[in-house]
Amino acid sequence: MTKTCDVVAIGSGHNGLVAAAYLAAAGKSVIVLERNAWFGGGVVTRELTVPGFRHDQHSMAHIFIQGNPLLLNDELGLKSKHGLSYIVPEMPMMSIFEDGATLALYRDRDRTCAEIAKYSARDAAAYAGLAAQAAQWLPMIAATLYSAPAPMGASTALLDQSPEGRALWRTTQMSTHDLLTSVFEHDRVRMHFARVAGENLVSPDEKATALGVYVFVGFLEAYGFGVPRGGSGALTDALIASIRSHGGEVLADAEVERVEVRGGRARGVRTRDGREFAARDCVIGAIHPHHLGETVEGIDPRIAASAAATEISPNACITVHAALREPVRTRAGEAPRAVMVELLPDRYETLRRSFDELRYGQLSPYPLIGFGSLSQFDPTRAPAGAATLHAWDYVPYVRSDGRSWDGAKAQYAERMLEHMRRFLPNLTPANIIAYHCDSPLDMERTSPSFVHGDLHGIAMSTYQSGAHRPTPELAQYTVPGIERLYLVGPFQHPGGGVFGAGRATAMRICEDLKLDFARAVARA
Ligand SMILES: Cc1cc2nc3c(=O)[nH]c(=O)nc-3n(C[C@H](O)[C@H](O)[C@H](O)COP(=O)(O)OP(=O)(O)OC[C@H]3O[C@@H](n4cnc5c(N)ncnc54)[C@H](O)[C@@H]3O)c2cc1C
Repeated sequence: MTKTCDVVAIGSGHNGLVAAAYLAAAGKSVIVLERNAWFGGGVVTRELTVPGFRHDQHSMAHIFIQGNPLLLNDELGLKSKHGLSYIVPEMPMMSIFEDGATLALYRDRDRTCAEIAKYSARDAAAYAGLAAQAAQWLPMIAATLYSAPAPMGASTALLDQSPEGRALWRTTQMSTHDLLTSVFEHDRVRMHFARVAGENLVSPDEKATALGVYVFVGFLEAYGFGVPRGGSGALTDALIASIRSHGGEVLADAEVERVEVRGGRARGVRTRDGREFAARDCVIGAIHPHHLGETVEGIDPRIAASAAATEISPNACITVHAALREPVRTRAGEAPRAVMVELLPDRYETLRRSFDELRYGQLSPYPLIGFGSLSQFDPTRAPAGAATLHAWDYVPYVRSDGRSWDGAKAQYAERMLEHMRRFLPNLTPANIIAYHCDSPLDMERTSPSFVHGDLHGIAMSTYQSGAHRPTPELAQYTVPGIERLYLVGPFQHPGGGVFGAGRATAMRICEDLKLDFARAVARA
């Protein structure tokens, strides 16, 4: 039996839900189909360890979505009507070094400068300059993040027309390392910012990554790192509530096998268990470029082939989620008060060499561990006095020793915990009630977006960014030759992260359906 609606969305990741929610608000009947038994893809909170402990399985800090008009102007009423709220701690990030010394980044620039001055007065002044530049660039950068990407050639030509534009272009081409060595003198300050930018899964030595430092600092000061009350999944819950309030449906255990195309137009989808959903207006698909060819009937084989050739990042994620009897403390006996905490070696070179090893498919000799313990900000996540811990490290998807991550992850998780104990002495076996580890294999099983454990879906290299993301043909969220099929996912512009990028897809759909996007927003 076929069920018919206006819009069928494949996947309940936040981007698919955002796109579907705008269309539901515009008056379209919407059905979202999710292959998992739960919703949210990378934006999900689950009791992964023991009851009462709620873990953000993937994303935990909602950073870039804070500048999206979706939240900035509360366009869908997620905050005012559907229960979404954020805690915004004053200290988004900190680093802890081997000897127990720390370096924190605050939203307040003067406080950050005072932290950096512990290491170098010159670097503190340099940070003030970098942060001022980041604030100046932020509106322009933010303007590119929540709509379809501008053409590559035109954007570059525009930048080339002024000294300011050329300075920005230069920064876009530099490596994080090039930038940091030119701005800062102290090894630890350089390392701290290299690791901040490294949260994008990139080595500081990767060319064309330096702008990431400005983007992080700009967002961090302007918006802070949002910690959703109730967990990352609170965003998913609010989006689903919005869709349902407009009569839309969001269904679990519905894996789409095929997008059905007739007369060059997407007409609906078929699920793996044989159900059919017809779409009068359009299909929205969280379809990874590597899977487009097998999922979309009649797709141009050249388009499918170039999508299949998109490159995955060599650095995959592995995570440990722990339920703790008591919050972690540093060697100085303090609870780290930042949203994200980086555990760093004594020398910057050690960090760079660890990233280097990943290029060759080796485990990094010095773990690249970051963690967050968000129950300190949001007590709804753990029983009174107890805590949650979310730790991550970077590893190759294919291990050079030939072992499968299924067999090897338990040993690796123990290695991570042992390493963390050097910085957090009370992270003892007695303090850990239970823990859950997701290897890169688990990551791609939870969402096909995370192919090979790449949280961006595909690498964020320049040739796969902006108007070339994932490929030049697919960058406008459409599939040439197949009308009314629209794409969402971390592999589309602007990339991996909780951006709410489905808004740009919804804008594109409204344009094609001759719907007034602004009126849809007003109706919501
Ligand atoms: C470990 C980890 C930590 C992260 N931390 C952060 C962070 O702190 N901050 C941040 O901003 N970002 C973070 N990210 C990145 C962020 O989570 C993702 O980039 C983002 O969630 C992508 O959202 P999406 O909606 O595009 O795709 P996804 O979240 O991947 O959603 C896609 C959904 O579609 C479903 N689906 C796919 N194919 C089908 C099909 N055929 N049929 C039915 N359903 C289907 C999937 O099951 C999934 O639910 C992290 C990612 C990982 C893996």
